[in-house]
Amino acid sequence: MTVSTIDAARERLTLVRDTLDRTALVAGRQPADVTLIAISKTQLADAITPLIAAGQRAFGENRVQEAEGKWPALQEAHPGLSLHMVGQLQSNKAEEAVALFDVLHTVDRPSLVGALAKAMDRSGRRPDCFVQVNIGNEAQKGGCPVTDLPALLAEARAAALPLVGLMCVPPADVEAAPYFALLGKLARDHGLPRLSMGMSQDYETAVMLGATHVRVGTALFGARG
Ligand SMILES: *Cc1c(COP(=O)(O)O)cnc(C)c1O
Repeated sequence: MTVSTIDAARERLTLVRDTLDRTALVAGRQPADVTLIAISKTQLADAITPLIAAGQRAFGENRVQEAEGKWPALQEAHPGLSLHMVGQLQSNKAEEAVALFDVLHTVDRPSLVGALAKAMDRSGRRPDCFVQVNIGNEAQKGGCPVTDLPALLAEARAAALPLVGLMCVPPADVEAAPYFALLGKLARDHGLPRLSMGMSQDYETAVMLGATHVRVGTALFGARG
């Protein structure tokens, strides 16, 4: 790891973190209430360690198997990191996900609630859970349909999942603000304090509308290969 790669990582991280902090203050919020998750999917350890050296602590992945391949060694070498699952989760990967991740952002259906509850009971580990909402009701998109949300939240609460908030990925290529605002309203309606929303293109808008967790890949790592 050369000085220049650490400097470049620090520069990108500072730019994103400063923008987040400024936006939070404009919105009358505390910068410390916005967690920046560096989405490191497809990135190799060589690209991740400079960001850790620059001070970043929360990272996100979208595939269990890829995360299992690179994170145990990084966690061992750098205690105090938190690892977030932001991709679609198969029920048959629930046990591995509960073992590896500190936060799960993509709880989206009853069968997964059941698999996660079982895995948590067996392992004694209880990662915080966000319920992913298909906020634009898009056919191919992961997430619970808005109309099914009350029932899914009731199931998750009955199964004693540690529910903390809602997560969304709004439709591409349209203004995200209305979708972020709707997710915020749904979270308030259901008494959930946290909102996982906003990516490289729209994290400022997300913070204006209450995001507590933004998921930023490209703006921290550069374009994915
Ligand atoms: C890849 C990904 C991100 C980060 O996207 P960027 O545009 O690279 O910032 C955020 N959230 C999810 C769910 C992702 O899959």
